[in-house]
Amino acid sequence: MKVAITLDGRVGSGQLRRFTVGSAPAVGVLALQGDVAEHLRALARAGATAVGVRRPDELAAVDALVIPGGESTTMWKLTMAFDIAEPLRKRLAAGMPAFGSCAGMIMLADRLLDGVAGQETLGGIGMTVRRNAFGRQVDSFESDISLAGITGPPDAPFRAVFIRAPWVEAVSDKVTVLGTERVTGRIVAVRQGPLLATSFHPELTGDLRIHGYFVDMVRERA
Ligand code: GLN
Repeated sequence: MKVAITLDGRVGSGQLRRFTVGSAPAVGVLALQGDVAEHLRALARAGATAVGVRRPDELAAVDALVIPGGESTTMWKLTMAFDIAEPLRKRLAAGMPAFGSCAGMIMLADRLLDGVAGQETLGGIGMTVRRNAFGRQVDSFESDISLAGITGPPDAPFRAVFIRAPWVEAVSDKVTVLGTERVTGRIVAVRQGPLLATSFHPELTGDLRIHGYFVDMVRERA
């Protein structure tokens, strides 16, 4: 069911912004492991009807999916244990919008470097992601990022939180690079059609611009 609502939210600079909310699409958060609650909260504030997804029938009921940050090796094992890996791959192949943050970015990568033995991904985005890439240098840090089409002057940049984060090492020509980390120059935000991924954790900052952008992507698709 789609419900018309309006919502006020604060953007990174602290100013209040009204999100244009014509309908509230049902957006699931893959709830096997990771920071599920934070994504549910951010999605609800960005105008979606947010629900946890663990089982194939729950996946079938949503318009789109967020794959949270957490630990991709565990998340992969649990997608197998819950028999949801193949249903996820099928929905992604059929064009379901999805957004992956950090471990979720790893799950959406077609190619993975520095995974553990037996670790697979769901794939969908034509990119090569290196797991724990920033983590080798510094375990966690924050950095201001400009994101094409999401933040840009006169908006404040996005304050990005990185925790043992992956980076994107290569992209196919279908992928649009939305943002790079300033110090390393590494790609940290990408989009390919209905799929969006960030190396960092917008669900932890209270800045709703990326979740709002994703909910708009879902609405455009509906
Ligand atoms: N290093 C984690 C992994 O491999 C990702 C970390 C995160 O999601 N914060 O999945």
